Amino acid sequence: MAIKLTNTHVGTIYSQTRLLSYKTLFSWYSGLLKPKPIKPPHKHIIQIGDPRLRAVSQPVPYDDIYTEKIQSLVKHLAGIFKKYNCIGLSAPQVGVQLRIFIMGLNEKSLQEYSPKERKLKEITLIKPMVIINPEVKILDFKKLVFSESCGSIKGFCADVPRYYSLELKGFNEIGEHINMNATGFTARIIQHEMDHLDGKLYTDSMDRKTLSCTCWEVVNDRNGKVELPYGPV
Ligand SMILES: [Zn+2]
Repeated sequence: MAIKLTNTHVGTIYSQTRLLSYKTLFSWYSGLLKPKPIKPPHKHIIQIGDPRLRAVSQPVPYDDIYTEKIQSLVKHLAGIFKKYNCIGLSAPQVGVQLRIFIMGLNEKSLQEYSPKERKLKEITLIKPMVIINPEVKILDFKKLVFSESCGSIKGFCADVPRYYSLELKGFNEIGEHINMNATGFTARIIQHEMDHLDGKLYTDSMDRKTLSCTCWEVVNDRNGKVELPYGPV
């Protein structure tokens, strides 16, 4: 059946077409402006609140250690570790739920602690190492309480109790067995990173009253005009 179009009909059709066009254009432009979801591994350290920091990470099948996927992840982690001047970094902190962490403490990091602090906390140089599928056995259940911070809880620190000594087993990035004993600060780093692999953060075991902003004095000195970088500086 033929429909005779009046001026009103034509106007309505025109308006609807124009409305549709605006909507289409708007959604097209929005798509251009909206950042695409970035897939892990991230080039930054993810922050507390991100549900991926609360997941229990999966072990790496031994035969996968040599695969491109794991080798490139280890390389990526090592890059972030260096860029952020870390002493410990786990795969979940770049958004990957695999049981891998890196630790190391170089001369530059060591100098950031006073001789008194080094002695008290037993802070020593640690050769950089990758640990895949780490397992820990506590050797000395005595707990030491010292201040701790985390790249995933940027700008804060708190006192955290950690066992004094432990045995660490696992594999390095070329599949060789790692078996070492650690005490003091090194044992602390290992326990901190093990917690990350189990979806735990130091805020779960800290002395809550000691939670502090690491730059609260600077905030006062600069009348509050302080911004924290969430990328490398
Ligand atoms: Zn951490």
